[in-house]
Amino acid sequence: MGRGSSKAGTGKYGGGMQNSDTTTNVTSSHPLTEEISKGGGSFANEIMNTRDAFEREYGDAVKNMNLYVATFSDGSTLGAYGGNTLYMNEKYVKNANLTAAMQAGAKSGFHPGIGNKTGAEAVASHEIGHRLGELAAKKAGISEMDIVARAATKLNLKTENMAGHISKYARSNYSETIAEASADVFCNGSKASKVSKAIMAEVKTILK
Ligand SMILES: [Zn+2]
Repeated sequence: MGRGSSKAGTGKYGGGMQNSDTTTNVTSSHPLTEEISKGGGSFANEIMNTRDAFEREYGDAVKNMNLYVATFSDGSTLGAYGGNTLYMNEKYVKNANLTAAMQAGAKSGFHPGIGNKTGAEAVASHEIGHRLGELAAKKAGISEMDIVARAATKLNLKTENMAGHISKYARSNYSETIAEASADVFCNGSKASKVSKAIMAEVKTILK
């Protein structure tokens, strides 16, 4: 444990907690709103604003999601999504270096670029992407791989080659492909990878 914040950019996102590849255990947590009542930093607002921005874009799918600050069994985990709740790693989220660390992680291609967003916004937009992918798959009665496959057909690309256009971490599994696409589109807008944009367009079509 105790990976330095300067390495956070290449740290793990713990999304999709049912997924054995990325399972992490939340060892303690509290609602983000407690941070606000304690006067806790701009990061709390950044995360809530990110959630609100997703709600405007994708509708009610993100509306009732719980926002928590947590510690994890694997200290290098940046954030996680599971059981209707977004968990942000307390260690990183309050650290002013998170943005620089995420920019460094993007430079190496491990994560998508974060545009003019903060590290907290980049992590939150990835984790919210897990929720969107999960709910879209459930609503359409298909798998997250099927969502990526639909976007691949439109781009005339092979499904298995899609993630490589987004980031190294997107290649972990199809849940991470969608989560990374979500962060890419949120952070980079029109400058996001065409693959990320196509995937999130499929997600939006299903959810809206
Ligand atoms: Zn993830």
